[in-house]
Amino acid sequence: MAKKDPIYQRYMAAADADSTHAKNCKNCVGSRRCGAGQQLWTAFEKAQDAHQQRPWSERCR
Ligand SMILES: [Zn+2]
Repeated sequence: MAKKDPIYQRYMAAADADSTHAKNCKNCVGSRRCGAGQQLWTAFEKAQDAHQQRPWSERCR
């Protein structure tokens, strides 16, 4: 299975960006996010939706 799946990679990158931000940001505490953190979270949710809404046959695992 090819790992070059743009939707999956965007999903992973968004998850990474979100968790990195949450770890380093003093204004994000638990589920309370700062403006930038909230944007990253929204981007992550969108990427996750895009990834999960695809049929199994298109998914790369
Ligand atoms: Zn933050």
